[in-house]
Amino acid sequence: MSKAFFIDTSKCTACRGCQVACKEWHNNPATETKQVGTHQNPQDLNYHTYKLVRFSEKEVDNKLHWLFFADQCRHCVVPPCKEVADMDVEGAILLDEETGCVLFTEKTAELSDPEGPIYACPYNIPRKDPDSNRLAKCDMCLDRVQNGLKPACVQSCPTGTMNFGDYDEMKELAEKRLAEIKKTRPAAVIGDPDFHRCFVLFETDPALYHDYAVASADVPGPLGRRTMLANVSRPFK
Ligand code: SF4
Ligand code: SF4
Ligand code: SF4
Repeated sequence: MSKAFFIDTSKCTACRGCQVACKEWHNNPATETKQVGTHQNPQDLNYHTYKLVRFSEKEVDNKLHWLFFADQCRHCVVPPCKEVADMDVEGAILLDEETGCVLFTEKTAELSDPEGPIYACPYNIPRKDPDSNRLAKCDMCLDRVQNGLKPACVQSCPTGTMNFGDYDEMKELAEKRLAEIKKTRPAAVIGDPDFHRCFVLFETDPALYHDYAVASADVPGPLGRRTMLANVSRPFK
């Protein structure tokens, strides 16, 4: 049975425990930042930051809301990043059959066009090391998962926002929670539930959380939402 995340943003307090745990587990260095008037820190994902808690201040129903979203790779069912990389360097991006994890390898440094997988990602996730040209992103903590442990971000989350387990179990959990939340938040949705292995519950319009919270319907060509939907009709569990 393949794996999935359930990210319940309605429970997130933006403590950033997940962000720090991700860095610690991967031995990734801190990113030097400066205050620019937001608590989001660093300002974006980067080669050494696979998990980023996004802060968005938006007016919803005439009230100012602080919306938190722990962003990461969604581990797409038919990953556009891999489809592009496969045309260039075989094995640069792998798909682990057992878990469904999309894994970037050191061979991404050999891609003739490292921007290809970056451009292909509907969620704007991969980042490039300017020195080596290698690409990096969330690896589902595959080393932990293969040894029966939860991903570091899930293990560290104190509120129940981050969940991880068998695909069907996470799907059921997400649908149950959505039904509960909808009683008070009718606009709540699970973002792109058929595209990937990351059920993200948004309490309101996902676009208010982040420009790339859900795949854009208007991306032209082979990487658009329509093509992704057609692709996910392939069996994947
Ligand atoms: Fe939110 Fe949990 Fe991450 Fe804290 S650890 S920022 S509550 S997802
Ligand atoms: Fe690839 Fe982006 Fe999908 Fe992650 S979210 S698997 S980087 S296309
Ligand atoms: Fe980071 Fe692992 Fe969580 Fe991915 S699954 S965001 S690599 S801690």
